[in-house]
Amino acid sequence: MYNEIVMDHFSDPRNLGEITDADAIGQIKNTADGDQITVYIKVKDNTITDIKFKTFGCGAAIAASSMLTVLAKGKTLDEAINITNDDVNDALGGLPEQKLKCSNNAANALHDAVVKYRAANS
Ligand SMILES: [Zn+2]
Repeated sequence: MYNEIVMDHFSDPRNLGEITDADAIGQIKNTADGDQITVYIKVKDNTITDIKFKTFGCGAAIAASSMLTVLAKGKTLDEAINITNDDVNDALGGLPEQKLKCSNNAANALHDAVVKYRAANS
């Protein structure tokens, strides 16, 4: 049901975990599916120097969170806020139709973290 890229990120998630001294934490809940995604970022000179995630949910949500962190690491905050859920889906090579709602959240968690970082540091 999942393609190879999705299976790879699901079985071996990148940047999994927590940053205890994170500069900002973003969180979203997918009420349709119960997935919960938390994204931790470290920021220096407006660039995301480190990012980790914790996801409670299905395989698609975990794979999407993992891919999101790969896409976001090393990006500026402006670039990060422009990463869309479609970008995550494309990078994953597509998800089954019924699982799109699960991946269509990961970028929102990152955006939440960036918005909170900017609110706290402006
Ligand atoms: Zn899900």
